[in-house]
Amino acid sequence: MELILNSDIQTSRQSDKQVRHILALSGGKDSSALAVYMRGKFENMEYVFCDTGEELDETYEYISKLQDFLCAKITWLKSEKDFRYYVDLYNGVLPDARTRWCTRMLKLKPYEDFIGDDPVISYVGIRADEPHRKGYISTKQNIQPVFPFVEDNIRIEDVERILMESGLGVPRYYQWRSRSGCYFCFFQQKREWIGLKNAHPELFEKAKAFEKIATETGERYTWNEGESLDELAQRADTIMDEHEKRKTRELNAFKGHQKLKDIWGYDSDDGEELSCNICHL
Ligand code: SF4
Repeated sequence: MELILNSDIQTSRQSDKQVRHILALSGGKDSSALAVYMRGKFENMEYVFCDTGEELDETYEYISKLQDFLCAKITWLKSEKDFRYYVDLYNGVLPDARTRWCTRMLKLKPYEDFIGDDPVISYVGIRADEPHRKGYISTKQNIQPVFPFVEDNIRIEDVERILMESGLGVPRYYQWRSRSGCYFCFFQQKREWIGLKNAHPELFEKAKAFEKIATETGERYTWNEGESLDELAQRADTIMDEHEKRKTRELNAFKGHQKLKDIWGYDSDDGEELSCNICHL
């Protein structure tokens, strides 16, 4: 892998200023596979996990497994204020794909604070088969993102192989969910909300508790546009039925790749290109 560095990082290297190598883990398959792939390539690689405080237990469990595998400390970063604080600050308006204040305040800010003004090469797990994804591109000149999987033509099947061969396998939530991140992530598909309800009914209730209807204006603050979680749960059978039909159609269209699709639960409508890479890689 050849690193093409920006002028700030090059200057730091020439002046012998310590350049930090940092890999941010989300608890998802791609950043985890990247950590395995990069293991031993730099002695001073730092690993971080930005914890929103609203992650799934399966994510915490997998991060801890990964730490044991890497034999390296994973630094846990957390915002001083929690999710509830920001919901109140924004008058009950829940984050969505357009505003994404949760990513900014609970993931990116702690990450940038941790880095400060140090020159950093930030390793991002975007794969070669997802050129549409942009990754976390910091606006700070001292942080240079690099994409080893893109440079080395590592695709989804390679990510699968890396994780299986390492013995880590994939996080358990892939049985009902297609990406890492908060249990209430608004990028979830409807069938994944049903998956959450079945796997973690208490978390589904917690997510529901963030929804509300403003008494004066009647305005509805819900995770899904036009539908509350209560309403969605009432349509559970229909949602799962439609999902099964679509899956059958896609499996037929992707003959030969069933294994990958089964493992990742990938759907053509999963909005991958819109999701936040620091949360979902
Ligand atoms: S996982 Fe989803 S809800 Fe959580 S911070 Fe990221 S975008 Fe926001």
